[in-house]
Amino acid sequence: MTRFTLAVCAAILATSAHAQVTDEDLANDQSDTSQVVTNGMGRDLQRYSPLEILNKDNVKNLVPAWAFSMGGEKQRGQEAQPIVYDGVIYVTGSYSRLFAIDAMTGKEVWQYDARLPEGILPCCDVINRGAAIYGDKIFFGTLDARLVALDRHTGDVVWNKKMEDYKAGYSYTAAPMVVDGKVIVGNSGGEFGVVGAVSAYDAETGDMVWKRPTIEGHMGELNGEPSTMTGEEGKTWPGDMWKTGGGATWLGGSYDAETDTLVFGAGNPAPWNSHLRGAGEPNDDNSGDNLYAASRLGIDPETGEIKWHFQTTPREGWDFDGVNEVVAFTDRDGNKRFGTADRNGFFYVLNREDGAFVSAHPFVKEISWAEGIDENGRPIYNEANRPGNPLAAADGDKGETIFAVPSFLGGKNWMPMSYSQKTGDFYVPSNEWGMDIWNEPISYKKGAAYLGAGFTIKPLFEDYIGSLKALDPMTGEIKWEYKNEAPLWAGVMSTAGGLVFTGTPEGEFLALDDETGEVLWSFQTGSGIVGQPVTWEQDGEQYVSILSGWGGAVPLWGGEVAKKVNYLNQGAMLWTFRLPKQLASVQ
Ligand code: CA
Repeated sequence: MTRFTLAVCAAILATSAHAQVTDEDLANDQSDTSQVVTNGMGRDLQRYSPLEILNKDNVKNLVPAWAFSMGGEKQRGQEAQPIVYDGVIYVTGSYSRLFAIDAMTGKEVWQYDARLPEGILPCCDVINRGAAIYGDKIFFGTLDARLVALDRHTGDVVWNKKMEDYKAGYSYTAAPMVVDGKVIVGNSGGEFGVVGAVSAYDAETGDMVWKRPTIEGHMGELNGEPSTMTGEEGKTWPGDMWKTGGGATWLGGSYDAETDTLVFGAGNPAPWNSHLRGAGEPNDDNSGDNLYAASRLGIDPETGEIKWHFQTTPREGWDFDGVNEVVAFTDRDGNKRFGTADRNGFFYVLNREDGAFVSAHPFVKEISWAEGIDENGRPIYNEANRPGNPLAAADGDKGETIFAVPSFLGGKNWMPMSYSQKTGDFYVPSNEWGMDIWNEPISYKKGAAYLGAGFTIKPLFEDYIGSLKALDPMTGEIKWEYKNEAPLWAGVMSTAGGLVFTGTPEGEFLALDDETGEVLWSFQTGSGIVGQPVTWEQDGEQYVSILSGWGGAVPLWGGEVAKKVNYLNQGAMLWTFRLPKQLASVQ
């Protein structure tokens, strides 16, 4: 062939109209550094890249390649993780939008805006956390609880399915996940008395394959027929409370290929007022545990049957959703484990085979609601730190106010941590804060907030709230801590180059030394960062992308903390950085 023909062939190969994302691509996402085709940079959600082109010595030479505005009038929180495939970045934005952007030039390829109806009920900003890719389609969920499949080349709708009834408080914000040709999703709406569920849809047709509710007593579905009941009806719930019992699976899940298990977390039981969901001290008797709210669930991806469960906060009463991501890893002794940093302030290690409890250690300071975690993984409650029962109050309309740590936004909220295969440590974005919280009477009304609680979040310390921690999962030891004035709300990524990337609400995109926590590089992005970084390699150069755009739950729900950070400006920019080849060895 002539040189000309070879060049044309190479160009065709680089952007092949027929390139299809396969199951193998999804399975190998961590090791194939040329693309990022899953949420979590691998379905075990380690957010670890084996790339070391960019490293501690040369990160100071990392420079912006381009920036893409997703702004217009639609800004607010930008929390998505980009997908990188076939020279294109696919990233979701606030208000249920999806953008395809040329990964080299930053030019828009296409944009899809979901037409949202009046009356959607997102609890915690109009955010979206990312898309899934499979075959030649891109999938994402919308704030009116629909699942949309688009042609990845054109942005044209292939199918668009209603998942749930947005008028009942359901919405959708998580990145979907694809396993064996099925698009696996959770749901949102725990503050409206919805019923949490994990569901699987056929990627080709959009037909539901199975649905698994996360609250006891609700019937599952398989291939259009009722399948099995989740648990036993009302076994750990009083009366009819299970019917609107919450347990929303709003952060999506992970997939452990070695045990062929989906792992999803379920949010708070509804309503927040825990006195309506059981009597007596939860340590005496398990009849008020409110399964499977505030739990992690291992689920069979073929049938939607529950394989195991682990409940972090039985009869939860502080909005300690059990949704935080569960990351599969192998510890330094070769044990196959899961790690998860719960809203309740404890970092749990579980056994990957059966979800059994291994250990738990506090990862934030001054935890007040529990003395610790016992040998079975159950909290040792400090019952005096449970918000009081309104029925015990003199006037019957407001229970005793208590100051609890952490606050309901959690020792860690949704923002994903990273596990480094290089150091064997987790990098956990946490926040040091507490809250005044009290209970109030409440009854369920479709489409209305179903809390039965009031609250005000307060900082614990004068000079910082945010705290990125390097945590040893074997011992719970905090090896280093990076303190940040505003609460951290962005994802974390670690690399074989010894770098830990994250962003701050103050707008700084940071690269830290994985062994010391020293800031080696930073870049001011112009708005607060609540997005999730990714990295990949093209033509021998390493790239890093992150969304900048302040918003999310903190400004809406943060009480005194929200007032403290109300000077931060909104934005909506996808920043992409690159280490130019000629600077890779310049020290
Ligand atoms: Ca919640």
